[in-house]
Amino acid sequence: HAAASDDRADERQRLTQTVAAQMRETGSATGRPALSERVTTALRQVPRHAFVPEDQRLYAYVNRPLPIGHGQTISQPYIVALMTELAQPQPDHKVLEVGTGSGYQAAVMARLVRTVYSMEIIEPLGLAARERLQTLGYRNVEVRLGDGYHGWEEHAPYDAILVTAAASHIPPPLIRQLKPGGRMVIPVGAAFLVQQLMLVEKNADGTVSTRQILPVAFVPLTGGAR
Ligand code: SAM
Repeated sequence: HAAASDDRADERQRLTQTVAAQMRETGSATGRPALSERVTTALRQVPRHAFVPEDQRLYAYVNRPLPIGHGQTISQPYIVALMTELAQPQPDHKVLEVGTGSGYQAAVMARLVRTVYSMEIIEPLGLAARERLQTLGYRNVEVRLGDGYHGWEEHAPYDAILVTAAASHIPPPLIRQLKPGGRMVIPVGAAFLVQQLMLVEKNADGTVSTRQILPVAFVPLTGGAR
């Protein structure tokens, strides 16, 4: 695993506390998880400022989404933490992410599981994220350019799947590529409106149970099959 960065560690520590407080406040009654020790540590270690454009560096440790170019965003740290917790990452897990963007979510997840496979449809973003993750020392993340609607068959099935762009429906290929007992976290709803962040659990018999977690506003999932 990559070494922790001391750079701006105080700001990162404060942001992590802010996220923890937000998760406590909005927690249990709604079925939203609290911030665990493992995810807290991961948030403290990943240098978010290295994942945002130069002109956004100042705001890297504010609990907000930020523009990363090409009309895309790095998600709000609270949302990254929430989606990470909902996936219940374990050290031996293999995780698929659809929507690499900056690579930040992939980096956080990479500190918690064995391997992260991440797909990005916008070539320059995917290439930049791949290089950034490499430079920062994340050896257990693989970035592939392409339409994540269809998943990444080669490495399936996955213990968890994170979709970080809003889909009109849960892509059936992603359900197929989820292990029985696996969990998918995905914002579902109309593009450019409010979506529902959903937790999708695949049962042993292949059926799925879904739960609405939180209203969210993600950039849309693009690509072939909408
Ligand atoms: N997880 C990212 C991060 O940590 O920076 C933030 C992701 S951003 C909110 C959503 C990303 O999904 C964008 O980079 C967008 O290009 C990508 N995307 C949209 N549709 C996609 C698709 N069909 N396949 C793969 N990536 C897609």
